[in-house]
Amino acid sequence: MFSPDDSIVAIATPPGRGGIGVVRISGPSASEIAGKVLERDAPLQPRFATFLSARAIDEVIATYFPAPHSYTGQHVVEISAHGNPVVLDAIVRCAIDAGARLAEPGEFTLRAFLNGKRDLIQAEAVGDLIAAATPLQARVAFDQLEGTLTRRIAAIDAELYDLVARLEASLDFPDEGYHFIEASHTAQRINGVIEGLDQLLGDARQGRMIREGATVVLAGRPNVGKSSIFNALAGHDRAIVTEVPGTTRDLVTERIDLGGLPLTLVDTAGWRATSDIVEREGVARGSQARDVADLVIVVLDRSEPIATEDEELLEQTTTRNRIVVANKSDLAATVRVKADTTYDADRTYDNESPSSHSYVVSGFTRTVDTDVCVSALTGSGVSELRKAIVAALTGQDSLRDTAAISNTRHIVLINAARACLVAAHEAAAAEDTPEEFLLTDLQAARSHLDEIVGVRTSDDLLEHIFANFCIGK
Ligand code: GDP
Repeated sequence: MFSPDDSIVAIATPPGRGGIGVVRISGPSASEIAGKVLERDAPLQPRFATFLSARAIDEVIATYFPAPHSYTGQHVVEISAHGNPVVLDAIVRCAIDAGARLAEPGEFTLRAFLNGKRDLIQAEAVGDLIAAATPLQARVAFDQLEGTLTRRIAAIDAELYDLVARLEASLDFPDEGYHFIEASHTAQRINGVIEGLDQLLGDARQGRMIREGATVVLAGRPNVGKSSIFNALAGHDRAIVTEVPGTTRDLVTERIDLGGLPLTLVDTAGWRATSDIVEREGVARGSQARDVADLVIVVLDRSEPIATEDEELLEQTTTRNRIVVANKSDLAATVRVKADTTYDADRTYDNESPSSHSYVVSGFTRTVDTDVCVSALTGSGVSELRKAIVAALTGQDSLRDTAAISNTRHIVLINAARACLVAAHEAAAAEDTPEEFLLTDLQAARSHLDEIVGVRTSDDLLEHIFANFCIGK
């Protein structure tokens, strides 16, 4: 279904106006088509920028990249004109009149993949790099474009290839009674490969979070300071902060970059029973948001005793990934603070920073373990809260500046390869397992790795991946 035999054209720069706009042509006749567009008989000099006037449309600079030294591996001509949609459309129309076809989304990168200029990981990384919204997302995508993940998978695959070759040799020369590899050694080596995959998977949660982002929902009864914390995290006044309880009636969302993690931060209506129909709707939306969140931040007001609503919210969120925050640490704590083992029943630890983040209401009936103590007003504790959010989402205290693996498709396939290897390991560890059994599992593991890199693909998969690209890429 993919026919790289024709020539395609598209505007490669974003829609709208700008200093420069680029039209790209790729295919066997790219040079001839460009010649007609530019009304020029002499061929363009390869890899030189040629300044010329095109058909009374615009003054342009044309660059010719002959195959295979181009982005797609085919002949490519890039025409840089002024960034005006009318001008660029006119150039595209001329190219179509000259025999080109309008490119599908991602078709230039698809051709690069089909021509072996990039493997599938790198092609996907191009899409990620274009879509990146945070510097860390861009870093991770660039790393994959450079081939970091490709190399790590190739090293794992080389080890598997060697194992498969030895086992096949044992099968091919059974009469000689010669084994090219000991069973125990096989099990040991398979284990080594599993460890290699586990190292990759160790970064996967962080990588996926960096690539896909996470939704973090702030929850708490009215007036505990959710909107203030939202603003402290977002870095500017976005949500309305008032002293009147029940002001946040709808979900307020903001996209923020929290230490490299792209987060959708959601401020919800205060959790309380209410007769106000609008506020009730807001509370209901808040509950729904909590249910789909990657992380819930339950905010408590440390200056007030724990209320029934606080307890209900804590109860409802016990099984969720959550952080319990004690806000208003600048105010005197009206609750007693438990200082871990040196708990002193007669003392009220007013306005003290607790050594353990747990506190007990008067009468010592309720204990709530909190994770972070903050003051949204003064900003104290907010950086600890940021760290706690990163830790709760990625399982790591801070983000390393690169993550080798970030794409769910890759994670799923690595897990599938790992499962095959675990089966192979069991077979190898068992006595007298025929080599065929092992081989089947090892080859299945290799085929999953091949699928990541794109050695094996289906048209459906390619269509799915490249459909998410923009036209012109
Ligand atoms: P929400 O209803 O939970 O969103 O609470 P808001 O963020 O609107 O805050 C309610 C009130 O508490 C406002 O008057 C805030 O100024 C105040 N407030 C919020 N955080 C703090 C804090 O850390 N310390 C103090 N002293 N007041 C705070």
